[in-house]
Amino acid sequence: SSTPTPRTAPRILAIANQKGGVGKTTTAINLATALAAVGERVLLVDLDPQGNASTGLGLPAAARRITTYEVLMGEYRLEAAVADAGIPGLSLAPAGVDLAGAEVELIDAERRHHRLADALADYAQLEDAASYVVIDCPPSLSLLTLNALAAADAVLIPLQCEFFALEGLSQIMRTIETVRARINPRLELQGVVLTMHDRRNNLSNQVEADVRAHLKDKVYRTVIPRNVRISEAPSHGKPALLYDLKCAGSQAYVALASEVIQRERARKEAA
Ligand code: ADP
Ligand code: MG
Repeated sequence: SSTPTPRTAPRILAIANQKGGVGKTTTAINLATALAAVGERVLLVDLDPQGNASTGLGLPAAARRITTYEVLMGEYRLEAAVADAGIPGLSLAPAGVDLAGAEVELIDAERRHHRLADALADYAQLEDAASYVVIDCPPSLSLLTLNALAAADAVLIPLQCEFFALEGLSQIMRTIETVRARINPRLELQGVVLTMHDRRNNLSNQVEADVRAHLKDKVYRTVIPRNVRISEAPSHGKPALLYDLKCAGSQAYVALASEVIQRERARKEAA
């Protein structure tokens, strides 16, 4: 008989930005798919009551049984919520509208910031636990996002290249600092990804230059272009990568995944 290879703990990435419509869910779905495509085992955790990541992966609200709400409330273990996304290597812990109530229901609860972290620590013990957990956060810095940041090893921030982008960025950076100081000292910034970029738009280019000057190599080289195929994919219940792999948007997400893996490798070697 062979010696079992020691399994490393899943690497947990939170996709966060308090602004809505900046590409969090699109990034969560397509990064998760791209990581699965290169052989990682990936669990996407939907932590947004809107459940867009769940719908975008082809799991309509009616088909969701146990969701992240029940997991946060301590009614079920995370593994009970895990659904097959129909994509090799990728599974999904879906969200439903009831998740919006968790905020209030957990107000006085014990370990209210650590509900997801505790569930993921339990999940990590499983023989077939994922190698990457990608958490799609809601558009706020609410208790749900704090649960994601408390559970995560690193944050990936999608940033839309528009006016006020830098103000929004400093707000989430301050939140990361606070979480690091009070809740989760190991939290790192994986990187900032510029989304819905339009090369023909001067403002897009100016914002990109400012963000790069400010954050240097924390900004991924890969930029996600504005691409109609990306916005069409969710209505087909598919990641853009499976809807149209050749489109510029899908190719950008493939490149982003490879940068994410490179950063993870560099981090491991430095450790
Ligand atoms: P968030 O999760 O931050 O609210 P989404 O990922 O849902 O943002 O994106 C907001 C909207 O923009 C969605 O309709 C999505 O399909 C669209 N979108 C996201 N990224 C792109 C892109 N690169 N090109 C075109 N449309 C995009
Ligand atoms: Mg979203």
